[in-house]
Amino acid sequence: MVFRRLLGGSTKKIMPHDLPKAYDPTAIEDHWAEYWVREKLFAQPAPDTASSAGNLSASEASLRSAGETFTILLPPPNVTGRLHMGHMLNQTEMDILTRWRRMMGRRALWLPGTDHAGIATQMMVERQLISEGKTRQQLGREAFVERVWEWKRHYGGAILDQMKRLGASVDWQREYFTMDEHLSVAVREAFVRLHEQGLIYRGAYIVNWCPRCQTAISDLEVVHEEQKGHLWEIRYPVIDADGKDTGEFLTVATTRPETMLGDVAVAVHPEDERYLHLHGKKLRLPLSGPDKAGREIPIILDEWVSRDFGTGAVKVTPAHDPNDFALGERHHLPSINVMDATGHINAEGGAYAGLDRYVARKRIVADLEEQGLLAAVKDYTNNVGHCDRCKTVVEPRLSTQWFVAVNKSPKDGLPSMAEMARKVVAPDADGKKAITFTPEMYEKTYLSWMENIHDWCISRQLWWGHRIPAWHCADCHKITVARVDPTACAHCGSEKITQETDVLDTWFSSGLLPVSVFGWPNLTPENRADFDAFYPTSLLVTGFDILFFWVARMIMLGCWFAGDVPMPDGSPRSLADSIPFKEVYIHALVRDANREKMSKTKGNVVDPIEIVKQYGTDAVRFTLASMASPGTDIAFNVARTEGYRAFANKIWNAARFLFMNIERAREVGIHVPSNSFANEPDLSHTSPVEDLWIMSRLNRTVQYVNLALEKYRYDDAANSIYQFFWGEFCDWYLEIVKLRLDFTDNADRQVAGAALATLTHVFEAFLRLLSPFMPFLTEEIWHALYDGKPPKKSIALSEYPSYSENASLLSLFDSGEKSMDAIQLAISGIRARRKELNAEEKAILNVKIASTEAYPDIFRKNAEIIQKLARVNKPELVSFLDRNKGGRYEHLTWQAHQHIDIYVEYEKQIDVPAERARLTKEIVKLEKGLAAAERQLGNEGFLAKAPAHVVEGLKKQEAETRLLLNKARSALDALPSE
Ligand SMILES: [Zn+2]
Ligand SMILES: [Zn+2]
Repeated sequence: MVFRRLLGGSTKKIMPHDLPKAYDPTAIEDHWAEYWVREKLFAQPAPDTASSAGNLSASEASLRSAGETFTILLPPPNVTGRLHMGHMLNQTEMDILTRWRRMMGRRALWLPGTDHAGIATQMMVERQLISEGKTRQQLGREAFVERVWEWKRHYGGAILDQMKRLGASVDWQREYFTMDEHLSVAVREAFVRLHEQGLIYRGAYIVNWCPRCQTAISDLEVVHEEQKGHLWEIRYPVIDADGKDTGEFLTVATTRPETMLGDVAVAVHPEDERYLHLHGKKLRLPLSGPDKAGREIPIILDEWVSRDFGTGAVKVTPAHDPNDFALGERHHLPSINVMDATGHINAEGGAYAGLDRYVARKRIVADLEEQGLLAAVKDYTNNVGHCDRCKTVVEPRLSTQWFVAVNKSPKDGLPSMAEMARKVVAPDADGKKAITFTPEMYEKTYLSWMENIHDWCISRQLWWGHRIPAWHCADCHKITVARVDPTACAHCGSEKITQETDVLDTWFSSGLLPVSVFGWPNLTPENRADFDAFYPTSLLVTGFDILFFWVARMIMLGCWFAGDVPMPDGSPRSLADSIPFKEVYIHALVRDANREKMSKTKGNVVDPIEIVKQYGTDAVRFTLASMASPGTDIAFNVARTEGYRAFANKIWNAARFLFMNIERAREVGIHVPSNSFANEPDLSHTSPVEDLWIMSRLNRTVQYVNLALEKYRYDDAANSIYQFFWGEFCDWYLEIVKLRLDFTDNADRQVAGAALATLTHVFEAFLRLLSPFMPFLTEEIWHALYDGKPPKKSIALSEYPSYSENASLLSLFDSGEKSMDAIQLAISGIRARRKELNAEEKAILNVKIASTEAYPDIFRKNAEIIQKLARVNKPELVSFLDRNKGGRYEHLTWQAHQHIDIYVEYEKQIDVPAERARLTKEIVKLEKGLAAAERQLGNEGFLAKAPAHVVEGLKKQEAETRLLLNKARSALDALPSE
C-alpha cells in the first residue's frame, strides 16, 4: 500500500475505498511527515513583508503587529542532542497548541533551531580527538573550531530530523543555529551595547572551576554530593619579630590541605581570649616557598570567624575559597592562586609545582606529619561540588571573568536589568502581570531568585562559542570592545592588540533569541516585518530546570534590548511591549510507570523513538496528552499507549465503515457531496433523536476541548475527545444510525441519505477536533474522505470546530439530549437486567417499562432503537404503563430507576437440585465469613490496635457478605420445592 502514496512530488489520488484494511502507523506517518515538510505547510512568513513598514498607516501597521498571531519558540535543543521523553512531551504540548491556534485562524508560527551548546559540543569533539590520539591543544584553536563545524555539518541537529519525523508543525524555513551569522551579529551587538552602557566589566572572581572542562561553570551547573573525607588539623608555627620560631603553634583545620600553599593569613575572632596574646604576631606557613622554607603570614582579626568552630583559627586562602576571597578583600590581602586550569599545582606552589591536586594533597600531608606539624586527622563528611557535565570535582578558583552588572542602573533614574525583569512578572497595582506563569507557583520561584540575583558571569574558557569581542593592548593594557574587528587599540593606537580568548556563556546567546530570531539588531524599516508581527512571542513552553538559566535571561535581555526598538508606528515601546513572551508554561517531568525518575543508571529510560516505532507517533502523543496538565508529572506506561493505539484503530475502522456506506450510497444513486462535509446538516424537531443528540454531544465536546486547551488541560481535552468518540459516537450513535443506513431496493433513499449526511459531518468534525492530538491518522483519513481532493492541502490548515451558541440550535440539541437520556436509560436498564438474569446475548426478550414521566412518547417514537439495541421483542416489544395509575407489578422482578421501572421476562431452565446444592454450599461459606468478620469487629483489642483503614475495610466486607448471604437465602427460598 505504501506505493500508492505521494512519492517524488507527484500526487496520486487517494480513493475512499483505498484505505487499507489494517491501521499501520508507520506506513502513513513517514509519508505525511515528509509531505508536511516538502509542501512547507507550516511556513509562516510575516504579513506583507514589502509593504508593512512603508505603505501602511501607523494604526494599520500597529494593528497588524498586534494582530492575531500565535508565536512560540522551540527551546533550542543542544546540537549534540537526541530526542528523549521530555522533549517528546514538551514538543507534543507545543505542537498541540500551535496546531490548535493555527486551525483557529491565528497566524501561527512555531520557530525551530538548535543551540551550539558550548561545553557539551566541545566535549563531544574533544572525545573524538582523544580516540584518534590527538588533543585540541595539538590542533590549535582555529583548526579545532573548524573541526567542530565539520562535526556539526555531519552529525549536528539529528534531533531536528527526529522532530520532522514526529510531524512537529514548525516553520522549517526559519530554522536557525545559534552560531549563524545573523545571530552572532546580535550577540556581538548586545555585548558591545552593554559594555558601552557600563554594564559589562571584568573582575577577579572566585568561580566554580572544572579542571576537566577547563572552564568556569555557574553555581547552577554544580551538583553537590555528600562525600566521606577528612578534616586535617595543621600546626602553623608562631614566629617572633626576627622570623624565629617561638615554639608556639596555631592550629587550623582544612578539608583541602593542598590549598594551604595559597594561604595569606590566619584569622581569629578579635575577642577570642585564647589568642589575645597573638594579636599582631606572624606565622610561618609550613611547606611554602621554593625550598619549603615557609613564607611569613599575618594573624588577622575578623568578627566573621566563629570562635566555636574547630580551633577558632581559620586559614585564609582568597584564591581558592569564596568566603576567604571576601575576607581577603576586607583586609586588602593578596590572592595567591596555586593551581592551574587543569587542577595541577603551579609555580606558586614551590616544591609541589606540577603535581595533580590529589597527589599534592597526599605529599603535603606526609610532609607535615614528618615535620610533626599534623595535629590530627578526623573523618569528615562534606558536600562536594561536582561538574554537572563531566562529574569532576569542582575547584573553587580565582580567575578573571567577564560579568554583566544586572543590578546596576545604566543611568540615574533608570531601572537595572534585574529590576525590569522583576517588574514584568510581579503583579502591578491592578494585579495585572505582563508575563504570566503556569503553574503559578513558578512566579514566586522566579521572583525570589531575581531578588537575590548576583552579577552574571558570562565568560567561559572554551574555544567553541561566540568569542568575546574585546581586544587587549600590549602597550597600554587597556581593552578595546568593538562591533567590527579593530586593527589598533582604541586608547593608544598601538597595533599590538590580541583578542580575548574567552567565549560567551551559551545562555548569553540563547537569552537573546526572542529578539535575534526576528532580525534584531538590524531592524531597518524594510527589515522589521517579522519583528513587528511576531514580537513579543505568545508563549514559552519549557522545563523548570532552565527557569533561571534561560527563561530569566530571556526576560532580562529581551526587555533590555526590545525596549529600544520603537513600535511599528514609531512611538516608544512600553515595558509591557518589550517582554519576550506573554506566557510561560512550565511542563512536567515524564517518569517511568512506577513514578520513578528516568535515569540511565537505573536503566528505566524509555526511548520515545522505540515506542513510536512500536505504536506510532499518534498513540504516543495521545498518551502524553491524556496525562499532561500543569504541575503534574507523568507516569509513562506503555499499557496506556497500547490502549490509544487501539483507539486509533477504532477510528480507522469507523472510517472504513463510513467509506463503505458512502460507496453503497453512491452506487444506488444517492448524492454524497465530496467537498462540503463541514457544512451543518439541516436539523429540526422532526430530525431523528440520535442526530440531534450526537450533534449536541459534539458541540459540548468542542466547547470543552477549547476551554481545556486555553487552560493547558491537555488531559481534559484528550480525555473528552476519547470519551466522545468511543463512549458516544461508537457505542451509541453508530449503533443507532446503522438502522437508517439501509440501501436495499425497498428502503427510503432520503432517510439513508440524511443519516449518512449527519454521520459524515460528525465524523469529519471529529477528525478536525482530534487533529492537533493525532495529526497523522486524521490527515490520512481526512484526505481519503475527500477522495484525495480535500478543500485544503492539509487538515491542519482547516478550521478547528468551534462551539455553536445559536439559541434555536441549542434548544433542538436540548430536546435531543433529553430524549436520548431516556432511551439510554431504558436500554442500559434492560441490558443490566439481562445480565443479572444471565440471559444469552442473542436472546430476544419481552420487556415492560413503566414510566412516571413523559417518556412513553419518546419510547414509542424510538421503539425500534430500543428493540434493536436492547434485543427485545416485537411487535409488542414495549408496553407503556403508568405506575401512578396502574400500580406496581409487585409480584414481578423489577429494576427500578429514577423515572422508569423495567420488567424483563426471562425464563431459564434450571436444574433445581443442582442449584439447591450450589446455593446451600454458598450459604455455608458466606455464614462462616460473616461470623469471622463479626468476631474480629467485636474484638476490642483488635479495634484499638488496627489502623482506621483496615477497620473500615473490614466493616465494608462484613456489609457486603451480609448482602450476598441474604441474596443467596432468598434465591434458595424461591426455588420450587421438589
Ligand atoms: Zn566538567
Ligand atoms: Zn593601547
